[in-house]
Amino acid sequence: MDFRIITIFPGMFDAFASHGIIRRALESGRITMEAMDLREYAEGRHRVTDDRPYGGGSGMVMKPEPLAGAIRSARSALTNAKTLLLSPQGRPFNQAEARKLAHLEGIIFVCGRYEGVDERVFETDIDDELSIGDYVLTGGELPAMVVMDAVIRLIPGALGNEQSSGEDSFSDGLLEHAHYTRPYVFEGKDVPGVLLSGHHGEIRAWRLRSSLIRTFLKRPDLLEKRTYTDEEKQMLREWSRYLGSLADG
Ligand code: SAM
Repeated sequence: MDFRIITIFPGMFDAFASHGIIRRALESGRITMEAMDLREYAEGRHRVTDDRPYGGGSGMVMKPEPLAGAIRSARSALTNAKTLLLSPQGRPFNQAEARKLAHLEGIIFVCGRYEGVDERVFETDIDDELSIGDYVLTGGELPAMVVMDAVIRLIPGALGNEQSSGEDSFSDGLLEHAHYTRPYVFEGKDVPGVLLSGHHGEIRAWRLRSSLIRTFLKRPDLLEKRTYTDEEKQMLREWSRYLGSLADG
């Protein structure tokens, strides 16, 4: 999968590209990534990429010509790529969105700065607008890294272990179960015995129960949308009986 990022701060992506799974994905050729310096598409001695807003008011707006030039250059290199603007006004980004994006051949990210981009570029050159949450950051670079990180780990082979992303939180609508590693006893607390039993069926059931309970406690909104399997319904009934017994003493 090919990524191009249009930004006035291409250097921000150096650290992102040089660690862990992202670095391995680049080295293995599963992805390509190029941070394009928007200033190279700006005219004049000062290569200005922003200007004052028509109508007055505070802040600056990203000029349309350099943005359009950079996007069209990226598009001519990646003909099947989708162009995404990072913006707090965009559709909320989530795991389902990451799964859809992971099927694309390429993504061109447009990172806003200041008050954002001139509306005319948005109308003509942007396919979609994504937000990483209801808060306002200083630029689209961190959001672009967030989206890329979530997408890249879904590309087959990127994690090295095909199982890992399939069991993650949200992959089946639940949060992932609790995890434990050595030592067996830590500050007086030991690991649930079933995890050492070697009994795959019981371990799987324990993990499913752990997922259901954690989702209920941390993100009950996820459960409201869920269609339960018979096994899950049974687990919830047992848990509810257990809670009832605590209440009854
Ligand atoms: N004036 C804009 C508004 O109120 O909608 C906010 C502009 S923000 C200071 C500058 C840039 O940061 C945006 O153009 C966008 O690219 C990026 N950005 C900020 N918050 C974001 C978020 N939650 N998700 C995605 N991008 C964001």
